[in-house]
Amino acid sequence: MVSTDLLQALRILNHTFGYKQFRGQQAEIVQAVCEGKNTLVVMPTGGGKSLCYQIPSLVRPGVGIVVSPLIALMQDQVNALREVGIKAGFLNSSLSYQEVQDVETALYQGDIDILYVAPERLVQDRTLNLLCQIQISLFAIDEAHCVAQWGHDFRVDYLRLYVLAETFPDVPRVALTATADSRTQMEIQRQLMLDEGASFVCGFDRPNIQYRIRQKEQSRQQLLKFIEQEQKDNAGIVYCLSRKKVEDVAGWLSSHGVKSLPYHAGMTSQMREEHQNIFLREEGWVIVATIAFGMGIDKPNVRFVAHLDMPKSIEAYYQETGRAGRDGEAASAVMFYGMEDVVKLGQMLAGSEGNEQFKRHEQQRLNAMLGLCEMTDCRRQALLRYFGETLEEPCGNCDNCLVTPVTWDATQAAQKALSCVYRTGQRFGAGHIIDVLRGADNEKIRRFSHSNLSTYGIGRELSTTQWRSVMRQLMVLGYLQVDEDAFGSLRLTDSCRTILRGEKKLFLREDVNHAKRAIKPARAQQDIADEDLPLWQALRQCRKRLADEQNVPPYVIFSDATLKEMLLHRPLTSMEMLSINGVGDVKLERFGDEFLEVLRDFEYEN
Ligand code: ADP
Ligand code: ZN
Repeated sequence: MVSTDLLQALRILNHTFGYKQFRGQQAEIVQAVCEGKNTLVVMPTGGGKSLCYQIPSLVRPGVGIVVSPLIALMQDQVNALREVGIKAGFLNSSLSYQEVQDVETALYQGDIDILYVAPERLVQDRTLNLLCQIQISLFAIDEAHCVAQWGHDFRVDYLRLYVLAETFPDVPRVALTATADSRTQMEIQRQLMLDEGASFVCGFDRPNIQYRIRQKEQSRQQLLKFIEQEQKDNAGIVYCLSRKKVEDVAGWLSSHGVKSLPYHAGMTSQMREEHQNIFLREEGWVIVATIAFGMGIDKPNVRFVAHLDMPKSIEAYYQETGRAGRDGEAASAVMFYGMEDVVKLGQMLAGSEGNEQFKRHEQQRLNAMLGLCEMTDCRRQALLRYFGETLEEPCGNCDNCLVTPVTWDATQAAQKALSCVYRTGQRFGAGHIIDVLRGADNEKIRRFSHSNLSTYGIGRELSTTQWRSVMRQLMVLGYLQVDEDAFGSLRLTDSCRTILRGEKKLFLREDVNHAKRAIKPARAQQDIADEDLPLWQALRQCRKRLADEQNVPPYVIFSDATLKEMLLHRPLTSMEMLSINGVGDVKLERFGDEFLEVLRDFEYEN
């Protein structure tokens, strides 16, 4: 039996948002929230979380309050709602006193249906008093994983959200997030007191993202080649660990003809905002950033995310790569990773603050990330397994599925490397060990008389790149340990014995050949036939003009998916236009004629 709530929800979905049907578990979630249940929603990025609280906010009487830490995005979110005719507003520290008063007045007068509030603003007495005087339909807590103190997005203000349950016991709370392992899910339920509610954990898989992890050789060149060959004029995010590297890479890409901008916490907030706005509003920009960039970046058509440094955990990796392809179209996640990442992260961990238990926990997370890099089976299966989900078949859309990795018997090479570490006194980094193995002649070799060692020059058969691959894998597999010191000195571990004695064979991944073999690039992103290109461009121009007039990003007018439907179905009347997914009543009225004119012009010309 279909409830009246659900019927009304469907009507709003069709007429207001212009979508034909609910996606995935949206219908069940909307129904549970409409019924007033406290609800936890874990749904991957791009899955459609917003509708899960926006529609119930409208179905239930009163104002829907959305708690979100993403102040920079509130204006865009509110604009997007206003474009479909929903009365929306926001309260955060960017507003002037007068603007705050205007919002408050609008609330009292019933002129707001959905209100976005920053968490620190929500828990102020003034705001709570205000909310006590109006009818509230629900509280939606977005990015709910921010309550977890061990997470990298922890927000102290989220801990104070328990006041919602205390002050408004009869108002349902719906918590939403894209990333939460089972421990974080429990923490959300505990902190926000969602007990005895409903919980929807939708799959984590992002099938449209192609995952590739490659050995780092000259990462800037590798990145440039990737962009030029596969992602020309596409929007993308490049992650680097340090601010300096961000600046370097952004400048370097620009000088090679890639429209790119830096973003990191050392820049002025004005500059950061400027770069973020260009990225959001213009087409085809690449942002080079530290992890300071990205949380809640709502741009749906980011076509690639590239990592030039390895993230510290699989959670971070999955969240960062998850910013690609929110619109469901083909997208790529590439990472260039090498021995220096393993050394650097190992050092950072050894030297970090925190008790032993914390360090052990971080070490485990780092090991899981390293395991993902080195594995030779399907990466998506491993990623999903990490989040407790099973993918029965290999995915066919990761590098290991597309090109089967080759392994080689590296037992002898490993023996040489390990004895060389031993002979040099276990106090040198990998670079020097490789120099000794390859019989290099340099100042350091002479200073320590290392050319007299029995292991000097015994490894000339492998290139430096190949040796780096061997050393990296020996570290990751736990045969070599990085010291805490600044030099990245390597020590043998107990497990080396079996290899040195020849009791165990060691097979390693062959990086070099693997990199040389071509991988089929991710599906060409737009799939627009040549003869359709003029109309496609005209529709996009129309969208950009309207967006500029309204001072909103283009996707707030219509998504790429909606424009593609227009291209496919060629609507010529208002009725036909209304049947396009993404065109609702208000958008038809506001923009319908402009797009119909473009479409009719093309029809007459042909
Ligand atoms: P999330 O917040 O989970 O990352 P969003 O709520 O931003 O995802 O939705 C992602 C995209 O999918 C948006 O462009 C949205 O308009 C679209 N979308 C959501 N639900 C539907 C639906 N039922 N039908 C068509 N498009 C949808
Ligand atoms: Zn795969």
